[in-house]
Amino acid sequence: MSHGIGKGDAVFTTNFSFFATAEVISLVGATPIFVDIDEDTFNLNYKLLDLEINRVKKEGNLNPKCIIAVDLFGLPAEYNKISKIAKKNNLLLIEDAAQSFGATYDDKKTCSFGDIAATSFYPAKPFGCYGDGGAIFTNDSKIAEICRSIRVHGQGTDKYDNIRVGINSRLDTIQAAVLINKFEIFDEELRLRNLIAKKYTTLLMDYVKTPYIPNNCKSSWAQYSIIIENREPMIEKLNNNKIPTAIFYKIPFNKNPIFNSNGNYAISNKVSKKILSLPMHPYLNENDIKKIADLFKN
Ligand SMILES: *Cc1c(COP(=O)(O)O)cnc(C)c1O
Repeated sequence: MSHGIGKGDAVFTTNFSFFATAEVISLVGATPIFVDIDEDTFNLNYKLLDLEINRVKKEGNLNPKCIIAVDLFGLPAEYNKISKIAKKNNLLLIEDAAQSFGATYDDKKTCSFGDIAATSFYPAKPFGCYGDGGAIFTNDSKIAEICRSIRVHGQGTDKYDNIRVGINSRLDTIQAAVLINKFEIFDEELRLRNLIAKKYTTLLMDYVKTPYIPNNCKSSWAQYSIIIENREPMIEKLNNNKIPTAIFYKIPFNKNPIFNSNGNYAISNKVSKKILSLPMHPYLNENDIKKIADLFKN
């Protein structure tokens, strides 16, 4: 909204994320162009991104305007590569860091990549409040000013001076109070999540495909997601032992009738059938991790 992206514009993003990533593109009237993912990181495949941009340019029906990269499950996208592609093609780069607050890429924190980043404080995210909330990050003071205005119904100099069409996107004071306090323990929670992920991987690597974290990245572990053949019996077994599981995401964007995109999405289609997320939070104890691993072992 701050850049006036809308009808006739193409926005490139991953085919495999939470609905909101694609939803915002359609919400402003632009056309989402979905790109398949890397099989190991589950993030946007930058080589295919380059191809898709060239294809849309060649076809000439849409104006390529923007890339939205997602840091899925807390793992940063390939920003070295994606930033270069954005620059080369003169595209805005937005980082969807809803799941990756606290993660790093080349020792640089997420929410600092591209032109604008956004995170979510929804309770299930690594840095969650007790309701709804989120934040936008940018170094561009002009865009920051526009975002502040959009946030409060397109506010101008005062409450009843409305200078553009905006939305209601205020952060409740009560949620800010929760976040200020949780921020003090956030680094410790991040350390604990990393420790738990390490334990999971040690215990599970012989039975399933455990998460791949490139050397230049640290994940914030919004989810611990494995790849498992024939997941249904394992889900049943875990649930019978009172261990909750979740599937992120069962339906890649190309298969959602709202978007109905035809193209080659072999990897996201395959991953969506085999992925499974296990319990992940900073206070998961050693016994629980072992109990979960034993069920896989058996
Ligand atoms: C949760 C999530 C969002 C949306 O966050 P809200 O706070 O619900 O607006 C967007 N993108 C991704 C990848 C998410 O996981």
